[in-house]
Amino acid sequence: MPNYKAPLRDMQFVYDELLASENINQLPGMEEFTPETIHAVLDEASKICEELLFPLNRTGDEEGCHFDQGEVTVPKGFYEAYQEYKEAGWPTLMASTEFGGQGFPHTFYMLFGEMLCSSNLSFAMYPELTYGACNAISRFGSDEIKQKFMPKMVAGEWSGTMCLTEPHCGTDLAQIRTYAENGSDGHYSITGSKIFISAGEHKLTENIVHLVLARAPDAPEGIKGISLFLVPKFKINDDGSVGDNNSVSCGSIEHKMGIKASSTCTMNFDGATGYLIGTLHKGMEAMFEMMNSARLGVGLQGVGLAEISYQNAVEYANERLQGRALTGAKFPDKAADPIIVHPDVRRMLLTMRAYTEGARAMGGWIATYHDKDLKSSGQEKIDAEEMVALMTPIIKAFFTDIGFEVTNIGMQVFGGHGFIRENGMEQYARDARITQIYEGTNGIQALDLVGRKLPRRMGRLLRHFFHPIQNYIDQKLEEPNLKTLASPLDKAFGRLQRATGFIAQQSMKNPDEAGAAASDYLRLFGLVSMGYIWLRMAEIATQQLADGEDPFYQAKLDTATFYMERLLPQNSTLFANIMSGSKTMMSFKASSF
Ligand SMILES: Cc1cc2nc3c(=O)[nH]c(=O)nc-3n(C[C@H](O)[C@H](O)[C@H](O)COP(=O)(O)OP(=O)(O)OC[C@H]3O[C@@H](n4cnc5c(N)ncnc54)[C@H](O)[C@@H]3O)c2cc1C
Repeated sequence: MPNYKAPLRDMQFVYDELLASENINQLPGMEEFTPETIHAVLDEASKICEELLFPLNRTGDEEGCHFDQGEVTVPKGFYEAYQEYKEAGWPTLMASTEFGGQGFPHTFYMLFGEMLCSSNLSFAMYPELTYGACNAISRFGSDEIKQKFMPKMVAGEWSGTMCLTEPHCGTDLAQIRTYAENGSDGHYSITGSKIFISAGEHKLTENIVHLVLARAPDAPEGIKGISLFLVPKFKINDDGSVGDNNSVSCGSIEHKMGIKASSTCTMNFDGATGYLIGTLHKGMEAMFEMMNSARLGVGLQGVGLAEISYQNAVEYANERLQGRALTGAKFPDKAADPIIVHPDVRRMLLTMRAYTEGARAMGGWIATYHDKDLKSSGQEKIDAEEMVALMTPIIKAFFTDIGFEVTNIGMQVFGGHGFIRENGMEQYARDARITQIYEGTNGIQALDLVGRKLPRRMGRLLRHFFHPIQNYIDQKLEEPNLKTLASPLDKAFGRLQRATGFIAQQSMKNPDEAGAAASDYLRLFGLVSMGYIWLRMAEIATQQLADGEDPFYQAKLDTATFYMERLLPQNSTLFANIMSGSKTMMSFKASSF
């Protein structure tokens, strides 16, 4: 059976040391979030994750959700756990104080959210979707809507969903058929079917608030004719209490490879009462608000699963006795040496560790821009918003790709026992797989990066990344202790710059060039960003080690070295792929596939 212990020491390192210079608690409204407060809350959060949610992870996977005549029941123990989670106030942590939330920084959420996903990803989906829906409503909803829905949603009494996908359209939302008609009293009447709706139906909460994309009357064709509507499962009475059914029903639930305790529902809207959110025909703008926070959240899912897989792989590698170390027996009194003596097993464990700690740190770094975007003003706010926009597809796709890679390696460390259900490792890989698909597939994230983010504002978004990182690498190349780590990063960074120029130039002549390069480019960008954050961590570790030995900082420095020597070199293959252009793919005859 797997175990989980929240990696509090590493989280403190990220928050207190790596991100200290970002001064998050000096932003307006963030003054109370001192490192001491953050530690105390993370400590409490670790208990709820380890003791309440983690024990339900495997049983939830075994049992899955149940569907019976339109009603969905979550696995045993989930209802009680949700009530405990809600009553302890955990759903309020991140929400705005205006509606009863506690307004914690996003930088904190990257750590708390990771624990939730490590301990029980299916459970985490329910509050995470509500949080995303709250973001969209608080930004685009009318005052009346906000007053009516936000306090209950923030408190976790009501939950939220996002309803985009239809049977014939997932990526291409321009094809949406769900439609809205003008109701008699200023409301809309929503009709259509949505599929794959996470948390679409369950009994964890008293009401479910669906955010539904639909076409309003006289909508222009395509993506520019889509509006966003809030459609509650139950109507709300004038006194704010939950009223009658709102012609929203669940037609079925999906039987899935992973996240089995998260209900994935077909939702039917049959003339249901809906309220417009944001501007008519501009629903995608509001939905992007929800999707952007959700994409960062999905990136976190990759980190959370990678972490728990790593922890259990290390434990197993220390216990499993197979073969002898190549350099001679390390434990001659035992029947064999533990597999952790073998270089190939160490390669696997260090790969898992370097990606996981790198992603935790990189996610925290980007979250500081999220906080600055929300809390600062003027140029600082614009710069932060641009940095978040640039990095969101990278966080989503790179982190979920490595989440799947790491959980897959975790199974490999267990050998055949990784493939056996009772050891738990295969669940992490199965759960991780969907993260590469939903919230926009990783291929679509890559297209967002090359097609929308690179050209946006004449390439200005890139400057927030390129200039400071170039300066930092240049400085570290001059420092004898860090030069050997900075040098491979410098080369990789140079390739990223050249690849960027190549894509910008080539895609003007032929858009297929950008499409063909996109996924390799996103990974290259992710690897270089992670390399930058590893160099910063190595710098801190080197400074600390100058005062004396310390296993934590030594491991940090050694993992940074492994990253630079063993993982970052992928950049040269990715660069070669990008520079080879689109021809081999696009000239291949369709009939020959
Ligand atoms: C468990 C689960 C939970 C989900 N939860 C939700 C939810 O809560 N709400 C919701 O609305 N949806 C949800 N989804 C739907 C999910 O977001 C979609 O499945 C996903 O966006 C992909 O859409 P699709 O399945 O229709 O694939 P398609 O759009 O048909 O794509 C198929 C393949 O073609 C590629 N492709 C498509 N178009 C392009 C293009 N223009 N350029 C390059 N490649 C392209 C894709 O990358 C993909 O590899 C969920 C799905 C699952 C399985």
